[in-house]
Amino acid sequence: MQVLLKTRKARIHPDIESALYSAGQIAARTNALARRINKDYEGRDLVIVGVLKGSFMFLGDLLRRLTVPVEVDFLSLSSYIGERSTEMVRLNFDVRLDLKDRDVLLIDDIVDTGFSLAFARKHILSKEPQDVEVCVLLDKPERRKVLVPVRYTGFVVPDRFVVGYGLDYNERYRELPYIGILKSRRLEP
Ligand code: 5GP
Ligand code: MG
Repeated sequence: MQVLLKTRKARIHPDIESALYSAGQIAARTNALARRINKDYEGRDLVIVGVLKGSFMFLGDLLRRLTVPVEVDFLSLSSYIGERSTEMVRLNFDVRLDLKDRDVLLIDDIVDTGFSLAFARKHILSKEPQDVEVCVLLDKPERRKVLVPVRYTGFVVPDRFVVGYGLDYNERYRELPYIGILKSRRLEP
């Protein structure tokens, strides 16, 4: 069963043009980020806040590599219809933990135009934490419109629409264990 699953997942999905980062490459990079975070947050009061839904897989893998004490919460934003960001960001639901005077690490899948993370960061700052840093798996710098200070970045990606490892297109492809470029014929015009 395990072997079958591995074989099926190892084959590239027919809607994917090419794989950008394999599961192994993502794991290695996540390890390196976790090592930095473990060092930077030693003796501190870390709360990880994941931006749903795209960050869930990255957050889970990062979290199991952390050795510092950590609490976890989530918020949900929507800013996105299809493959283009809109500049409208809405808070669907908020964190429940009290973030006052805590060291918050905000985690998202990708920073693209920057609108979502700029909104999330400002929102978290309004809760008067001690500190807020941002960690993203992917950075697409070519499309940035709003500056967001990002402390931890997994990979810098080209200006292509990527899916997999939590990232979706119209809610699909999140389950892929790698990150790949979606074939453009799969994207709505
Ligand atoms: P931003 O506000 O920085 O433009 O991006 C907000 C959100 O758009 C990201 O959190 C992500 O959910 C989505 N997004 C941006 N670029 C991509 C991409 O290449 N692939 C996928 N699947 N989502 C993206
Ligand atoms: Mg997102």
